[in-house]
Amino acid sequence: MLTQQSYNTILTEQRHFFASGKTKDVAFRIEQLKLLKKVITEQEINIQNALKDDLNKSEFESYLSEIGLCLEEINYAIKHIKSWAKPQKVNTPLTQFLASSQIYSEPLGIVLIIGAWNYPFQLMILPLVGAIAAGNCAILKPSELAVNTSEVLSNIINQTFASNFIHVIEGGKETTQQLLSEKFDHIFFTGSTEVGKIVMAEAAKQLTPVTLELGGKTPCIVDANTHIEYTARRIVWGKFLNAGQTCIAPDYLLVDKKVKQDLLTNIKSCIQNFYGNNPVESPDYGRIINEKHFNRLCKLLNTGEIIIGGENNLSDRYIAPTVIDRVSWEDAVMKEEIFGPILPVIEYNDLSEAIALVNSQPKPLALYFFSNNQQKQQQILRNTSSGGVSINDTVMHTGVPDLPFGGVGASGMGSYHGKASFDTFSHKKSILNKSFLVDLKVRYAPYKEKLKLVKQLMKS
Ligand code: NAD
Repeated sequence: MLTQQSYNTILTEQRHFFASGKTKDVAFRIEQLKLLKKVITEQEINIQNALKDDLNKSEFESYLSEIGLCLEEINYAIKHIKSWAKPQKVNTPLTQFLASSQIYSEPLGIVLIIGAWNYPFQLMILPLVGAIAAGNCAILKPSELAVNTSEVLSNIINQTFASNFIHVIEGGKETTQQLLSEKFDHIFFTGSTEVGKIVMAEAAKQLTPVTLELGGKTPCIVDANTHIEYTARRIVWGKFLNAGQTCIAPDYLLVDKKVKQDLLTNIKSCIQNFYGNNPVESPDYGRIINEKHFNRLCKLLNTGEIIIGGENNLSDRYIAPTVIDRVSWEDAVMKEEIFGPILPVIEYNDLSEAIALVNSQPKPLALYFFSNNQQKQQQILRNTSSGGVSINDTVMHTGVPDLPFGGVGASGMGSYHGKASFDTFSHKKSILNKSFLVDLKVRYAPYKEKLKLVKQLMKS
């Protein structure tokens, strides 16, 4: 167990390494990204086993949503890093004659990356890719709840990289609190809104900038004009992936009354097709992370009318894919982020009613809308606010590297993935470079008759 003094030593060593300027070399960053890719590829089985032990993740889900996603992100960064890091020329107004202007991306320094347990591998590695690409040193603090993945991450990273460049520090919330009392140049936090507030308050004491990747209740709205079979399939996949423990899983369904029964019938047969008649036996269905979350979720089952699933088993931390009808906004299931395999259903008569319901809640991390009607798609985009949107799908917008991923309002601040990660971990330094060829005297005193000329120049 590391002590506060040892954190301090690691940080001091990272400061020295950063000051050496080594990480500013783009070739060094590419080399480190390649090393990261190599070690992840070599350790794939160990990572998979840890994810299986922590969350019963199938090999397929582990690859799709954790390992493969990280390899894809590394490849993408290696491919684009030179153009991202290149100083960017911008226009210079005539009043600055003779000069040129550019934006220079410089690394921030030492960054702290704190993760959640639900995608415990990628939530550490994806931000790390951005931190390396932008030329920073990093301290990683994985979630203590995904205990096996935390250990694998610590082994992989600490045996591959020098601790004065990147280091994993394992531990619980006390460890996070101790780390937060140190001075960092940026804190990247993924987790709950509650803890996000603590992180931001601690960061404020040292004026450290933060990225907060938080959660919330992601609505999934289904219009009557939709392809019901595909809609059901895409909702079931996004909701029950990782047993519903996904920050952007559809939290609740808002469905047009006219297609509600049809949709629920399709959802039922889709669950059977995916996980069989008894999902507890499916090799593809996950488990709840721990007993505390299992008990929290079981309490939510005492709401409305369970129309699909509901079975549960503490010894295995299993909760069946569950759909609950007849819920109201007063029920507990609608008052907190569910973060588990329970899908409440609320019907609406008119889309504006659904929009008003969504807008009465804090801004969500994602929003899903299923409809063939393009006018209604525009109506949703114009009249709601959320971190991201998938139209006619769920979750998949996170897989587009050119789309920044992050929340808005209560669901977070800042974003990452692809270039957005590079930008998050860079300072955009504005540079004006003046020539000695001429020195226009118009800005110098005495100002007397120069105002007219300045007005003309600045207006044109
Ligand atoms: P959490 O906030 O409980 O924990 C996250 C991290 O904070 C952990 O590393 C933990 O050690 C630390 N922590 C916990 N309590 C703390 C305290 N009092 N002081 C300082 N540090 C503390 O979150 P979680 O349960 O791991 O994750 C679930 C939440 O994360 C959900 O709300 C989910 O929506 C959100 N999430 C968001 C994203 C995203 O990308 N936006 C991704 C995954 C999860």
